[in-house]
Amino acid sequence: MSKISCEVIKDMLPLYYDNVCSDDSKRMVEEHLSYCDNCKIELEKIQNEVHIPEKKIIENRNDGNVIKNISTAWKRVRLKAFIKGGLISGLLMSIIILGYVGLFKWEITSVATDVVEIRDISQMEDGKIVYYAEINDGYSLNRIKYDMDKEGNFYITPLRPIVKKEAEPPYALEKGYDFIDIKEQEEYRGIEVQTVYYGTPKDKVLIWEKGMELPKTSEEAEKSLGI
Ligand SMILES: [Zn+2]
Repeated sequence: MSKISCEVIKDMLPLYYDNVCSDDSKRMVEEHLSYCDNCKIELEKIQNEVHIPEKKIIENRNDGNVIKNISTAWKRVRLKAFIKGGLISGLLMSIIILGYVGLFKWEITSVATDVVEIRDISQMEDGKIVYYAEINDGYSLNRIKYDMDKEGNFYITPLRPIVKKEAEPPYALEKGYDFIDIKEQEEYRGIEVQTVYYGTPKDKVLIWEKGMELPKTSEEAEKSLGI
């Protein structure tokens, strides 16, 4: 048999490798390979080329596991992040709510006495001290706190949130007569009242102190208080 050219064998090698050539062709290729190293190398190349994808499939399968592991890990991280996010957003929410309450609702700051006018201080027959208080900065109060220290200094403290709200009629706390029942406070607190201030220990207006003589409360004031 005449020698077949390497070119022809090279063309046939893939078929030979896949075992889809005729027996004659197979024999021909094998015969050629028995003496032609070049074509042997070509066949090895084909084997490698074919084997590499197989290897790659395994690698890819492993990669798939890696990807699966990564995605599991990522899911875990995401869950952690989600929980963390939940906690953080919960915390943020609390801060926002607290902030809102603190800024707008909570009676957190006292009113400076330079916007406070106290007038018409008087005393009723039963000893109650009556006064007219006006907050004249135009903003509302949330509450008036009554407090006494151990020395018998009584403080009537007007309170409002940090973010002020404009005062609106009927000005329940901002403008009007109010009174303090000295006897009742002394009985309730067990301390003799020495002074009555409007404001705080640091910023105050004196309403009354022990021994101070006050005029009799007017009918107008009594009516206004409804007592
Ligand atoms: Zn050859």
